[in-house]
Amino acid sequence: MKYIDIHGHPNLSQFDADREEVFGRAAAAGVGMVIIGTDIESSLRAVELARTHDNVWAVVGIHPTEASTTIDFDVLKSIARDPKVVAIGECGLDYVHATPEEITQQKEVFIHHILLANEMGKPLMLHVRNGKEMTGAYQEALAILKAHAQVRFNFHFFAGTPRDAADIVALNGTVSFTGVVTFTTDYDDVIRSVPLTHIMSETDCPFVAPVPYRGTRNEPVYVIEVVKAIARIRTEDEEEVRRQLLENARNFFHP
Ligand SMILES: [Zn+2]
Repeated sequence: MKYIDIHGHPNLSQFDADREEVFGRAAAAGVGMVIIGTDIESSLRAVELARTHDNVWAVVGIHPTEASTTIDFDVLKSIARDPKVVAIGECGLDYVHATPEEITQQKEVFIHHILLANEMGKPLMLHVRNGKEMTGAYQEALAILKAHAQVRFNFHFFAGTPRDAADIVALNGTVSFTGVVTFTTDYDDVIRSVPLTHIMSETDCPFVAPVPYRGTRNEPVYVIEVVKAIARIRTEDEEEVRRQLLENARNFFHP
């Protein structure tokens, strides 16, 4: 394994027609992957795919935008025990379209995930987003983590400020970046300010394909373009960045 996509959704229906080919392209390029659940059904699919493929792992949980649905935490716990499940999530706070009542529910569901992660001794895969008017999601998530979490955590698709990133790193948390870093300079400052030891690479496929695949369905093998972009933005040696990002994922997940 040379690269790892630490956050993707090849368990979704967008891959039903050619999933094995997608896995084959990743394996041929030395790309491992961590498949993320967003509800019970997609979590079960992630585990099934992880069990049947090498260099593939699963993360199970309920996305914050699903926090107002009925959630069976006993079922989630039974899925989370699988040895191929390497983290709990994606969970957290999403303020994009949330009402105050929904945010209250999101916080309760988030704390449930943190307690499950503590119990399992597995790290947390976080989804945190500010709304247009309602900001502060990162600081709120950090306050909740400080109060409850006894495990490592990664902020996937990090879109906060350099200050948020510094606060995450101060708690030994990590941030991961997607293909958007190949076509916007919005994240350059934060990518340069965070120590390389606290960065991971992801695709969030099938969404946000990197250049030169922009506008098409994203897939795990394209994480190579994300790693290249991180090296270019930091003006660091590509091979060194590749090696460090892989090691960061090993340290995070202990697969
Ligand atoms: Zn995701």
